[in-house]
Amino acid sequence: MVLTPQGNFAPCCVTPDVIVGNISEVDDINELYRESPVLKEIRGYFKGDQSGYNEESKCKSCYVADKANVWSTRRCWEDFAGAETWDDKGQNELKHLELTTSNICNATCSTCFSFYSSSWSMLEKKHDIQDPEEGLYIQYPIQKIADADIEKIKKIIPDLQCLQLKGGEPFADIRNVRLMEHFLETNEHGMLNILSNGSLVKPEMFEPLKDTGRIVVSFSVDGLGDLYEWIRSTDFKKVNENAKKMYEYTGRKVDFCSTLSLHNFFRAAEWMEELVYNPEYEHIAGGSILHEVAYPYKACTRVIDESLHNDVVQETVERLTKLRDYCKAENVREGREKYYMPFYQDTLDLFANMSYKGVAGGKHDDEPKDKWKEAAHNHIKFIDLVRKKDLYDIIPELRTALQ
Ligand code: SF4
Repeated sequence: MVLTPQGNFAPCCVTPDVIVGNISEVDDINELYRESPVLKEIRGYFKGDQSGYNEESKCKSCYVADKANVWSTRRCWEDFAGAETWDDKGQNELKHLELTTSNICNATCSTCFSFYSSSWSMLEKKHDIQDPEEGLYIQYPIQKIADADIEKIKKIIPDLQCLQLKGGEPFADIRNVRLMEHFLETNEHGMLNILSNGSLVKPEMFEPLKDTGRIVVSFSVDGLGDLYEWIRSTDFKKVNENAKKMYEYTGRKVDFCSTLSLHNFFRAAEWMEELVYNPEYEHIAGGSILHEVAYPYKACTRVIDESLHNDVVQETVERLTKLRDYCKAENVREGREKYYMPFYQDTLDLFANMSYKGVAGGKHDDEPKDKWKEAAHNHIKFIDLVRKKDLYDIIPELRTALQ
């Protein structure tokens, strides 16, 4: 389950609008998990019961993705924890919680909005941003889960198989550091994943990391220098420096976890190659691109024409195949932490299995391409204005692709 900054529980990060409860009204999180009809139906499907979960279901994201053979939360979780995770115990106890204690964030990533970022909240207000096309969660104020509700989360932490701390920016809210400590004190077997933008971390925060192999820290870094700064708004050198400091301080390497969007699509292979071939990134455990932006759709790769999209995918697959083979042959990143991705295979899989249609439940497949190209272009021009950088100078291919 996912807990959004607004305190709502949803089945996963892909479906924050499928609300199954609010933490302020829930006493026992496991009871909600057991009894929610939506979650029961999803768990049934994951266990192989095809009867109750289909296009008509309230949450149908995995069903649609599985049919289209594209990335789904179900797949992601089974890759990590194994299909047996849906056994009888898995029916009764929550195993995986993605937690966002607030939407406080210092960044304004080009693929984000105020639902997750307080800085976006200010930007949306200042420029009076509306989004009737997509009905995005915009113009949200700063939102935080109450301290009393954090106590409810602490109760289930000992039995979690995976706790993911996300943002907002997790290190902008000190309560995440307390939750990290609580996890290490009370949970004896699970894994903690912290997904940060990497710009606010201080080495002292990572004191608990020194003695455990059960924490994976991922920084969201989607590309090099100028491209990174255009997408993420934060300082590339600083984030890379923070990753280095963390390695020096704890002996543990950070994972650079990238999100695929229209904005880095043309440079995805280059970015993965850079992380392997450039000795400057020796302090990085590995890089991966495991998620695609489907929402907001104006930042999705599918707004460009299908033939061009397929060409880019094909070229990326060829380059990533070479990279994977090189990594295997050279045993690159030998000694990586247990949970990091092996030899860039998962990133290669994402591209190799990519289909042009079916993204976002397929709801934009038959809409006019021009409409979305224009929306994507306008969004890029807005971010250009804020960053004082022109994305078309950084990725000239995009200018042509959106014409
Ligand atoms: S760091 Fe995360 S929460 Fe903050 S703006 Fe970027 S994507 Fe949104």
